[in-house]
Amino acid sequence: APAPPPARHLFSDPAEVEALRRSLLAWYDRCKRDLPWRALAAAEPDADRRGYAVWVSEIMLQQTQVATVIDYYTRWMQKWPTLQALAEASLEEVNELWAGLGYYSRGKRLQEAARKVVSELAGQMPRTAEELQKLLPGVGRYTAGAIASISYGQATGVVDGNVIRVLCRLRCVGADSSSPAVIDWLWDMANVLVDRSRPGDFNQALMELGATVCVPKSPLCGECPVKQHCQAWRRKLFGKAPPVPDVEDCDVGDCPLCPPATEPWDSSLGVTNFPRKAAKKPPRAMRTATCVLERRGCHGAPEYLIVQRPSSGLLAGLWEFPSVPLAQDLQEEKEREELADHLQAWMGRPMAAKGLQFIGEVIHIFSHIHQTYVVYSLHLDGDVTLDPALSPSRWVTEDEFHASAVSTAMKKV
Ligand code: SF4
Repeated sequence: APAPPPARHLFSDPAEVEALRRSLLAWYDRCKRDLPWRALAAAEPDADRRGYAVWVSEIMLQQTQVATVIDYYTRWMQKWPTLQALAEASLEEVNELWAGLGYYSRGKRLQEAARKVVSELAGQMPRTAEELQKLLPGVGRYTAGAIASISYGQATGVVDGNVIRVLCRLRCVGADSSSPAVIDWLWDMANVLVDRSRPGDFNQALMELGATVCVPKSPLCGECPVKQHCQAWRRKLFGKAPPVPDVEDCDVGDCPLCPPATEPWDSSLGVTNFPRKAAKKPPRAMRTATCVLERRGCHGAPEYLIVQRPSSGLLAGLWEFPSVPLAQDLQEEKEREELADHLQAWMGRPMAAKGLQFIGEVIHIFSHIHQTYVVYSLHLDGDVTLDPALSPSRWVTEDEFHASAVSTAMKKV
């Protein structure tokens, strides 16, 4: 068995843990933000409906700002107020409502999971973090802990980006926060700290603290309700690690939780010495040629051709202008030819590359891809018969385009 973490990094004094819980919950009761999912969960007496309301919010909030989620969440809950309603929706409807929120597989998996609860679990949500994670697609350890503690009162901790930052600062943990030793420590500490009588509020309070006070840059330590328990703050004030009675100092040596000896405490950074992460891989560069094909519709208004992407992979099932990935470093002429060949397959007739008008380039950053869209346009005279053997396609007006399940990147195009 691995050696237990050095005591400096633990919350081992029960009186301190209790004091930290009390301070944090009192602050949360005074200062928490008014958010629609909180209001919905607090007012909902039915456990399954409460679980569903929290689940939708947690999935939408993954990798997405609160301010962006509010409107999507409100529209979603109006359209599908229950699991049963979501289970009956089509994937197309889900994608349309999700359009612009990013990470589209989240909506798809949420709906798959709702269908599973209805068809295999008699419409009843699992009630513990362990079962939620095991039985629901798209529900990982964090989401399961959040639903179980907030909706069902299970005393289980959660670890998200905000909690990582707060806990690493509270206990001066400066090793790579994605390393197995730190991840295990974070979950253990979250489970030690969680308040037994108000676990959902405690977890939300810890995340709220990270979102509004213990922020990545320039944290508001002076206003922090738990600063008395924060070793990073004391270290900043006193210039060295706070003493821990009868405990060997682990700042030097091979402590798996301390910053590496080669990158010690930097006093100019203060508490933002923590947490630390291994350098991220740079995003992969990709280039795609895309064509806005336009024709006159029957009422004279312009219409544009959109085609559906495959049902798996990046932006699965969303609609886009006909597009073709390009090799890097192609000459412009060659890029045009590739796009013309691609369009020819759609329209079943030869297409002159020089008819394509270059419009410009659009850059969109996905989490791991730096995508450049090389945008062309083409006006068509007369009718075009699209090959029905290819992916689904349709002509849309500009308004219909914006109401369709299209990505933010395509809206930029
Ligand atoms: Fe974060 Fe500062 Fe509070 Fe410590 S004192 S938890 S660093 S805001």
